[in-house]
Amino acid sequence: MSTMTGFDVSGVRIGGGRPIIIAGPCTVESEEQTLAVARAVKRSGAKILRGGAFKPRTSPYSFQGLGEEGLKILSAAKAETGLLVQTEVMDASQIDLVCKHADILQIGTRNMMNYSLLKAIGETRFPVMLKRGFMSKVDEFLLAAEYITKGGNEQLFLCERGIRTFETGTRFTLDLSAVPIIKKMSQLPIVVDPSHATGRADLILPMSLAALAAGADGIMVEVHPQPKKAMCDGLQSLTIETFGDYMTRIRAMTAFLLQQNEGN
Ligand code: PEP
Ligand code: MN
Repeated sequence: MSTMTGFDVSGVRIGGGRPIIIAGPCTVESEEQTLAVARAVKRSGAKILRGGAFKPRTSPYSFQGLGEEGLKILSAAKAETGLLVQTEVMDASQIDLVCKHADILQIGTRNMMNYSLLKAIGETRFPVMLKRGFMSKVDEFLLAAEYITKGGNEQLFLCERGIRTFETGTRFTLDLSAVPIIKKMSQLPIVVDPSHATGRADLILPMSLAALAAGADGIMVEVHPQPKKAMCDGLQSLTIETFGDYMTRIRAMTAFLLQQNEGN
């Protein structure tokens, strides 16, 4: 396993410093929607815009994403705001295309065990975030990560996004203990995704604060201008307005934690 403690993506530090906030819509729906969110993300001081163009949907009848058109919208959002762009790659055949538009690749929970995809991304020298499989144990998650680092791609960070349990009050169960466990077992940065973990917008703030307190290197959160009209995951998206307040609380927590760490 690698011994790094974070890395830079175009001047943005991931791991080993201030927690990073990755925010944006579940899926790129239109230029207007994505730019509205991108401007809010930029205003708040966050550095990375997320948004899916290739969407791994449970049902083949659900909206599958805008594909290349969605990637072009993300590029336009980046050109206007200067934000870094993170988006999912579902298949090795998409890597070249996605790399043309993205700064960071994302491997979704359903693909954590797609070893041919992991190997192909390990052959690139492109930053990537790997999400934990929702039925995967921590050691399986770390071994999946090693498929990428073994190929020589060291610009990798992890994302805890909840696992499936018997609990139905939330969409998945956020396994926050994975954060300090992984910190002990690995040098890889790890962020937490409270949107997919809980499926509930009202739980995003408390679970984000808890994630930072547990030592997470950042948060990934969904934001939509009109969550009720979102094509997917509206229930777990902050609005542009609530995202502003959310970031104020995140900044206060970050300042508190940095102060604590300096005291030690
Ligand atoms: C996402 O973050 O866009 C996503 C699809 O999440 P997950 O892979 O965790 O379901
Ligand atoms: Mn989503």
